[in-house]
Amino acid sequence: MLTIPSAIPIEIELECGTCGHRQAYQIPTPICPKCGSEWMDARYDYERVRRLWPDILQQRPFTMWRYRELLPLHNDEYQITMGEGGTPLLRTHNLSMMLGTPNLFIKDERQNPTNSFKDRQAALVISMLKEAGVTEMAVASTGNVAISYSAYSSHAGLKLWTFLPSLVPSEKMREIAIYGSEVVKVTSTYDETKKVAARFAKHKDILIDRGIRDIGTRESMKTLAIEVAEQLAAELGPPQPGIPWRTPDWYIQSVSGGLGPAGFWKGYQELYQMGMVNKLPKLALIQASGCAPMVHSYNKGLSEAEPVTNPNTRVITIATGAPGLAYSYLYKVIQQHGGIFEEVTDEETFRALHVLAKMEGLSMEAAAAAAFAGLFKLLSKGIIQRHETVVINCSGHTFPVEKYLLEEDWLKVVPPESEAPVIDTVAGIITSSSQKPASEDLLGALEQLDTHVRRIAVIEDNPEAARLLRRILQTRGEFQIDEAHTGKAGLKLIQRTRPDLILLDMMMPDMDGFAVLDQMKSDESLKDVPVIVITAKELTKEESRRLQGQIQMLLQKGSFMDDELLEGIKALLGEEKGG
Ligand SMILES: *Cc1c(COP(=O)(O)O)cnc(C)c1O
Ligand SMILES: [Zn+2]
Repeated sequence: MLTIPSAIPIEIELECGTCGHRQAYQIPTPICPKCGSEWMDARYDYERVRRLWPDILQQRPFTMWRYRELLPLHNDEYQITMGEGGTPLLRTHNLSMMLGTPNLFIKDERQNPTNSFKDRQAALVISMLKEAGVTEMAVASTGNVAISYSAYSSHAGLKLWTFLPSLVPSEKMREIAIYGSEVVKVTSTYDETKKVAARFAKHKDILIDRGIRDIGTRESMKTLAIEVAEQLAAELGPPQPGIPWRTPDWYIQSVSGGLGPAGFWKGYQELYQMGMVNKLPKLALIQASGCAPMVHSYNKGLSEAEPVTNPNTRVITIATGAPGLAYSYLYKVIQQHGGIFEEVTDEETFRALHVLAKMEGLSMEAAAAAAFAGLFKLLSKGIIQRHETVVINCSGHTFPVEKYLLEEDWLKVVPPESEAPVIDTVAGIITSSSQKPASEDLLGALEQLDTHVRRIAVIEDNPEAARLLRRILQTRGEFQIDEAHTGKAGLKLIQRTRPDLILLDMMMPDMDGFAVLDQMKSDESLKDVPVIVITAKELTKEESRRLQGQIQMLLQKGSFMDDELLEGIKALLGEEKGG
């Protein structure tokens, strides 16, 4: 059996985030006896950990428990683990090329036991509760916390009551139920749901999860930061002699309650204090415009959040209307260290979801896609520079929908004599589907065959970029694509194939794009073929002037999204057809 080397006992203290009062560690997290603040932080003997780690870490597997000395669990016997954390830090080949961001990394938190980064939280919090002898608790959630806590509660033998707003998809509620947790659906917003859960817990005299105000939640999320620091150093090397690990320029995450970034920040603060890294990251926190209390409060310069009482977004996972303390904390961090709060529309989010699935093979839930939509926006605004090192948290898989999972239960309540109608219904579906005209699909296919296949020439000297363009085109249309990797070869190609459209790179060694254009325009049979220029560098005024009237569209490499390109192509081919 795999056992994680147990921790060398480390002293933990509590420190008030408001007045600095220090006291012995206790659970559940107390409020500060001096000033009443609900923000207490765990403090460790950092110098000692710094000395111990180089040897200890070598022997440990890559999971979140690797950093055991900085986690507030005393006895490893109580550790509840299902392999959470230790998720890969992915490089994004196609996306990086498309965006022009060579140092973009995805922390793939979908690869946790219940597919979201809430598993870090559940593992630590439930281990701590077990150590404290707690056997029953309640939690309010927009879905993923409840799923994760349910899985870990079942593992730990803890009784869990979950409270969810009614907009949470039924598949998620079903997932919670299958772990044996109680599911209470509250027909209101998440903020109201939290109040109902708190009242229930008080009435029943059981513990309620206090989210970001509990030590364990933030302490668990800081393992994200520590992993990233270690992984980035492995990818890019240490930043300077004597400093082993690395800090990204930016950490991007979609936020709801703000627990992830608060924990991430704490992790980097500790690493910085220990001399493990040489700087702190900037946080880019993304919210859905239909529920963006942090963004709006930040833009108004408020240090306390103005709640959103009527969230209006389909991205329910991140629809916290009243972020409370978390906002004030993150606001201060961003004020002092740089960073940004940004909002994205649901439309932008779902578009990003498709881009990531189609360009990188990463299928994620909308809440995670919102972070990517935020990345696109911050790049195009120039707030994030393309050369900067960016780590983006990809938490949450598109949820697997296993439709018949609950049918066992439904059949149990149906008396035996009603079996026949059930079968009838099934038969009915089969009949009706077999009555569907069989020719429908065939007709569709024949019609498709009949459409004229358009021919596109890609003239681009970087073969990888050419391949990317080909891929973008192939995912969306019936195009015949020819490639040439030099200007001269490109000219020959278009003279021979007479394409319907040309995608032209400007910077090529033997014969640049301008020369290709000049030649083309002096050829009667080619001069009207539409041209989309794709260029890596900013054009000078003179160069832009030369292109005027010669081309139909100009796209800056690294700043175009595939949709933009495809829309341009469709419009150009449509025009040409009509004219
Ligand atoms: C919980 C969650 C978030 C938001 O997390 P916070 O850091 O608590 O704001 C974002 N995306 C997904 C998929 C989540 O499950
Ligand atoms: Zn205090």
